Amino acid sequence: MKKILFLIMAVIAVQLGAQDVAHYKKIVKKLSSAKYQGRGYAEDGANKAGKWIAKEFAKAGADDVVCQPFKLDINTFPGKMEMSIDGKKQIPGVDFTIREFNPSVKGEFKLYYIDMENYNAEKMFADLASPQYQGAFVVCDFMFSYKHGADFKKLQSKKDCSCSGMIYTWEAPLKFYKAYGEKVHEKPVIWVTPDFPKDAKSVKLDMENEFLAGYECFNVIAKVEGNRHDSCYVFTAHYDHLGKLGKKTYYPGAHDNASGTAAIITFAAHYAQNKPEYDMYFIAFSGEDANLRGSEWYANHPTVPLNRIKYLFNLDMIGDNNPVQYCEVSNEGMPGYSLFEKINAEKGYFKAFDRGKLADNSDHYPFATRNVPCVFFMNEKGDAYKYYHTVHDTWKNAIFTTYEPMFNLIKDFIGKY
Ligand SMILES: [Zn+2]
Repeated sequence: MKKILFLIMAVIAVQLGAQDVAHYKKIVKKLSSAKYQGRGYAEDGANKAGKWIAKEFAKAGADDVVCQPFKLDINTFPGKMEMSIDGKKQIPGVDFTIREFNPSVKGEFKLYYIDMENYNAEKMFADLASPQYQGAFVVCDFMFSYKHGADFKKLQSKKDCSCSGMIYTWEAPLKFYKAYGEKVHEKPVIWVTPDFPKDAKSVKLDMENEFLAGYECFNVIAKVEGNRHDSCYVFTAHYDHLGKLGKKTYYPGAHDNASGTAAIITFAAHYAQNKPEYDMYFIAFSGEDANLRGSEWYANHPTVPLNRIKYLFNLDMIGDNNPVQYCEVSNEGMPGYSLFEKINAEKGYFKAFDRGKLADNSDHYPFATRNVPCVFFMNEKGDAYKYYHTVHDTWKNAIFTTYEPMFNLIKDFIGKY
């Protein structure tokens, strides 16, 4: 009888695990769907996703769910996003992307190719001032522009040069960054793939920006009560992403960071069903891809005193397949890191950890700089990583191999720390 009971329990445990993974995948699919338009600020994509996440936390059994509003200034691109090269239409997100600080631009422009082999800044500025190239777009490789930073700073200033903008070649698939969209620059910068023709004559553009000043978005904070309230564990993950590039193109952000958001929802569900020793907070941040704005806001307006946090786990891009798990740890988090290593050595969840230098690359940073014991887990350089910040970071391309080991690793940690 005992044997049968054990077998039944084992079967139930396996089935529950499968259900948890199915629940996890369903959340990733939903968050990266067209409904939320890349969880940016145009068309309220992030805010709509945030409202859905709040409901999911409640459904998961959280004792309390609150939204914490904050404001940001952000440049968005919900309108026209058209580009043709010598009459050939280019596809947004695939053939080109733009810089997040771009202004609107409309018209047909000549192209001026910088001679990268025999570069001469004086000649370049003289050419661009000549009637032949008045108002042209400057074309060159991005790394080249980076190397000659001071000259290119001048090119991008209306006062110093009459060119209309830049076109930089960069590796494919093209990325779209968002962190500097808190202001609009004078001239547009467009990124194209290395396939960009070397002899095209003109570019036709119709691109519209919409700058949102003081736009209100919010963090979603769920709480599961433990037996003790003197300390707590905190799970964090950003739910915002890059939003839209024109009317039709959006950045789904399945790996970045529907994967982490879904994980903290399933953690909330787990602890709602298995009452924890200490209080647990699950914070889904907005504004991360806009320069950690949501986590910075929270760290300055915490809903629980920061010195009460026993440990904080920041999950940003956790669903990939690299057996070596990247992490960053705050100084105060180092004793915990030893425990992570010990558990991992026993259980073999990952082949190894690759601990990088603490950086302002995700939402753990505002906490790490305020002496909170914390870890940041990101599964980078797996097969999903090449889609990072591209239109290909989709549900279809998402990989979930590292979700379960990550879940179990943190669950074990909480039992022992
Ligand atoms: Zn991210």
